[in-house]
Amino acid sequence: MTTTRPDTKTTLDHLLTEIEHRNPAQPEFHQAAREVLETLAPVLAARPEYAEPGLVERLVEPERQVVFRVPWQDDRGRVHVNRGFRVEFNSALGPYKGGLRFHPSVNLGVIKFLGFEQIFKNALTGLGIGGGKGGSDFDPRGRSDAEVMRFCQSFMTELYRHIGEHTDVPAGDIGVGGREIGYLFGQYRRITNRWESGVLTGKGAGWGGSLIRPEATGYGNVLFAAAMLRERGEDLEGQTTVVSGSGNVAIYTIEKLTALGANPVTCSDSSGYVVDEKGIDVDLLKQVKEVERGRVGTYAERRGASARFVPGGSVWEVPADVALPSATQNELDAEGATALIRNGVKAVSEGANMPTTPDAVHLLQSAGVAFGPGKAANAGGVAVSALEMAQNHARTSWPATRVEDELAAIMTNIHTTCHDTATRYGAPGDYVTGANIAGFERVADAMLAQGVI
Ligand code: GLU
Repeated sequence: MTTTRPDTKTTLDHLLTEIEHRNPAQPEFHQAAREVLETLAPVLAARPEYAEPGLVERLVEPERQVVFRVPWQDDRGRVHVNRGFRVEFNSALGPYKGGLRFHPSVNLGVIKFLGFEQIFKNALTGLGIGGGKGGSDFDPRGRSDAEVMRFCQSFMTELYRHIGEHTDVPAGDIGVGGREIGYLFGQYRRITNRWESGVLTGKGAGWGGSLIRPEATGYGNVLFAAAMLRERGEDLEGQTTVVSGSGNVAIYTIEKLTALGANPVTCSDSSGYVVDEKGIDVDLLKQVKEVERGRVGTYAERRGASARFVPGGSVWEVPADVALPSATQNELDAEGATALIRNGVKAVSEGANMPTTPDAVHLLQSAGVAFGPGKAANAGGVAVSALEMAQNHARTSWPATRVEDELAAIMTNIHTTCHDTATRYGAPGDYVTGANIAGFERVADAMLAQGVI
């Protein structure tokens, strides 16, 4: 790649064209890079040191990308071959940090988009963590525990040589929760013959995991939404909220919303969505999704008269004051945003990574809706992962109240940073610009100080 001086919108546009050319067939990565680079023009103009040739070009190129074969046998003895990935994107601020996603949609472009987002998200936490992401196109749905265990063991048999508590620290994401982290950790420990608890986060509370880590992404997003509302003189109490998804992020988003007096009326999965006028019963949802690994339709069947299951359909049609997309990328499109705006939504806060399409973000912001981008709003998960690493390093574990207090302080701080940075760069109320520039500044300063590497 040639080095350009990206001090104007034109040079950033040129760089984006080059990124598309050099990374063919990776639309999610193009989208994530475009979304960040489009907001950087004011900071590159204001701070000439950031326009140094090669800085932005280095930022969009992962430091290392690992792609590997993952063979495993199902319960009938049939051999399957999946593909494993770990993209170590940027380590200027600390060891690579980011989750593993097991889902059939995973490919290198998806992992690169997630890893790129993670750099800025992790920088916004203010903690010492670089950005990375990994995963596999393995589909855990319908697989027995034994099959998932054999898959995780095979995956780690290659991954172990690339990770370590001071090198790269994976965690969960879609399809990777406590069960998978357990199997992955066991295999790492067996291969290396080391008790290296800081090599993975999201571990069980009895063997090195942090309390509040399972709750952290959802809780953190609700705190971020509350902070955006407070900025407008409102709070969450009594607000009808729409949540998409029914995995780890959605469940703890619903739990926190209920605790703060809001009424979360929906959840969803790929089969459709549930509307529950009385508010989602989070214990029932946990039972159906986490214990039984079932579908949201079962929740509606068991819940009784207040809930109905809508197969297919868009959850964004449900009238709400606040929406928290917590499923997956590009789940909230222009049509969904139009429906939310029509129904008077005041705030949208992203629990998932890049769930809102660029045109939907534009529509929401133009309509004056407070919009919290995932790299700020859902940073609570990785922040508590970094707190888990700190506890592991000190061979201690903190009480839940301490972790929750630290999470709340981190989320407040991220909100203030994004808010103030947006104002400073002439985009008041634009949390996308604020998050991108604030994350960029921290990473860029470290990269400049550490030289051309
Ligand atoms: N997968 C989560 C995220 O998107 C958490 C990553 C971590 O805890 O390392 O931020």
